[in-house]
Amino acid sequence: MTAHVTAFFLGGTIGMAGHQGGVVSRLDAAQLVDSVPALGDLDVHLEVRDFLRVPSASLSFEDIVELTTAAGGCAADGIVVVQGTDTLEETAFLIDLLWTGDSPVVVTGAMRNPSMAGADGPANLVAAVTVAASPAFRGLGALVAFDDQVHAARFVRKTHSTSTATFASPDAGPIGLMVEGRPVRLVSVGRRPVHRLTRTPGARVALHVVTMDDDADALSGLVARCDGLVVAGLGVGHVPESLADVLVDLARAMPVVLASRTGAGPVLATTYGFVGSESFLLGHGLISAGLLHPYKARVLLKLALDCGYDTDRIRTAFADASGVGSPGT
Ligand code: ASP
Repeated sequence: MTAHVTAFFLGGTIGMAGHQGGVVSRLDAAQLVDSVPALGDLDVHLEVRDFLRVPSASLSFEDIVELTTAAGGCAADGIVVVQGTDTLEETAFLIDLLWTGDSPVVVTGAMRNPSMAGADGPANLVAAVTVAASPAFRGLGALVAFDDQVHAARFVRKTHSTSTATFASPDAGPIGLMVEGRPVRLVSVGRRPVHRLTRTPGARVALHVVTMDDDADALSGLVARCDGLVVAGLGVGHVPESLADVLVDLARAMPVVLASRTGAGPVLATTYGFVGSESFLLGHGLISAGLLHPYKARVLLKLALDCGYDTDRIRTAFADASGVGSPGT
């Protein structure tokens, strides 16, 4: 039976074309689809929607919430979202946290614009539509199809600034592959609880990346400017002693989430005991991001605050999403 797929176009390199001084968003959804004849060979009824035409650096939380609502109203077997790659690891995760349906939402884009030799947009688009139409990928939430691989939104990262193989899931690996045009699911990913927004997103969440000999002054005045903070700590979740008390004070005033800046692996809970260690910080009110990358932790914290959750509920949301539970669970 012919599958129905609805594709939302948001912009990005995949639809950019020449302009004095560099490429800019140019192609609309119909032009983009027309430029990929292989889409016509699929047993798929493809409906396309021009949703936005912006570089993904300019996508907002609100845009993605609206997109998810619009996608939820589609009577389709699968949804494709086409956008720039720069923020794709965050937008895909936000969609995943909001998506209540069983249909796959498959996000894709391109690293090379259509005028470049070896442009990857057409292959990525065909793969995304194929995965969205496949019953094997139902019930897995938001996915990313790119460079012949399929990734779970929760794990996927943009790991290279120019390579067409930029998307990877360092903690989990790809969950599927394109094999001679067929989407093959390798493993499953358990769905995590979704969240329902009841108001316009407006929470302000800062991200502080801890560095050697960090300056605690960079965190001063944060309570007045922010509703929450994600700390991308060193290693398994460490900060210099000079930052420890500052973070403990902040955690008394607002939710402070502790992630690892390393890009893979979990925040630990009980291994180190020095002032500024993961056990010190978690024992003094910080919330563990577990396996969530700091960028994704920021997405979840902002969403949780936008949902009006209190600190206990935020802690539960992180324990559910983080992949490693929280100490004691
Ligand atoms: N370089 C980006 C891309 O891959 C631009 C963007 O994120 O819109 O599409």
